[in-house]
Amino acid sequence: MSGSQSTRGKTPPKKALAKKSASGNSRSAGESRAGSNTHPQKAAQPKHFLSDKVGHFTESVIREMTRQAMMHSAVNLAQGFPDFSAPLEIKQAAQQAVAADVNQYAITWGARSLRQAIARQMGVWQGIQVDPEKEVTVCCGSTEAMISTLLAVCNTGDEVVIFEPFYENYGPDSVLSGAKPKFVKLHPPSVDGGEWTFSERDLRRAFDKHTKAIILNTPNNPTGKVFTREELELIRDLCLEFNVLAITDEIYEHILYDGTEHISMVSLEGMRDRTVTINGMSKTYSVTGWRVGWAVAPEKITNAIRKVHDFLTVGAPAPLQEAGAVALSLPPEYYAKLAEGYRVRRDHLMPALVAAGFKCFRPRGAYYVMTDISAFDYEDDVSFAKDLVEKIGVACVPGSSFYRNPQDGAKQVRFAFCKRPETLDEAARRLEKLRVAEPVSV
Ligand code: PLP
Repeated sequence: MSGSQSTRGKTPPKKALAKKSASGNSRSAGESRAGSNTHPQKAAQPKHFLSDKVGHFTESVIREMTRQAMMHSAVNLAQGFPDFSAPLEIKQAAQQAVAADVNQYAITWGARSLRQAIARQMGVWQGIQVDPEKEVTVCCGSTEAMISTLLAVCNTGDEVVIFEPFYENYGPDSVLSGAKPKFVKLHPPSVDGGEWTFSERDLRRAFDKHTKAIILNTPNNPTGKVFTREELELIRDLCLEFNVLAITDEIYEHILYDGTEHISMVSLEGMRDRTVTINGMSKTYSVTGWRVGWAVAPEKITNAIRKVHDFLTVGAPAPLQEAGAVALSLPPEYYAKLAEGYRVRRDHLMPALVAAGFKCFRPRGAYYVMTDISAFDYEDDVSFAKDLVEKIGVACVPGSSFYRNPQDGAKQVRFAFCKRPETLDEAARRLEKLRVAEPVSV
């Protein structure tokens, strides 16, 4: 697992030093006087070819676990993509768009039809009036929307507050944008069926004059936490007090359980002008490979995001944006069915995990379950995940990949349950081989 040796906190590779020549001159052969008879290969000065930034993070552990799953023919409960079909209507809409020759670049910041649909649905779902011409940028997935936003708003030395465990992209995204991530712990539930919580004091301590933004992911990956109105108001108050932006990743907006409610930060009083709301098609419409996402932000910030987005990718796939407009017109029953389908899958997988010896933290949203692996006799999450994929034939994600300090996740692993019942059954059958004497409760 190349990515599992976490490099969070690793010092960047040192720049290669120019060797001194025999004369004591630090000028290399390549810089020698014009006309000297120097062989071009010898002329090159030893050079550090890589960006220092890439030394600060590893490849994605989640995506690496998918490669491991394929290598070992394991059931892939690591990466969060469905193994079932996307809705027929939207696949047909994509086919029709291609047939109708929607094959060239869309408007850089998004096809008008999709931007209008996004603006309309923000009104329906969150009661927010959005100008599709000035406040929406369609990107290649919410992944690109997040990095484009951070590149658009961060300067070197800015700090970005992130709750941890965190979706692993946020660390590298902050580094690439020159910002310093500041982590605030989410604590696992202390009682069965309880909620992940954070301390108000820890959060307040993370804010200071250098804080540019807070990244908030609700419903949350990997914990399944759905932030409550009270928690959001606390975050809002700090954003106002310290003049901070909220960048919210709401990609699991429609995947909610147990009567929880998704509240968009932008809908809170005082936040309309300081929130970037990120979302996308991947999870809501089971099309993670289509790469269509978006950022909704006030005009000035949108202009900056659009500039970055244009030079990063030019635009998201044009025919799939047209299909996106159709997807966002699906009736409310679609979303109710989606959430219920995932509730059934959650309640399918969790008992199998508990029976095998995992302690499960019941998710209230998104489609992952974080587990505690203390009942198994393993040194850490990475060696556990390695054995699980190689010997048991089930892929999960080591908990350490969601923390800055790998030690914090050494007793946790995450399972994705966005899979067909047959897939979950097969995983359960394989996990039986793992059973420990005394199952722990959900
Ligand atoms: N944000 C979160 C919290 C995720 O869990 C994921 C995928 O797992 C993404 C973003 C990626 O979204 P997209 O496919 O739109 O780039």
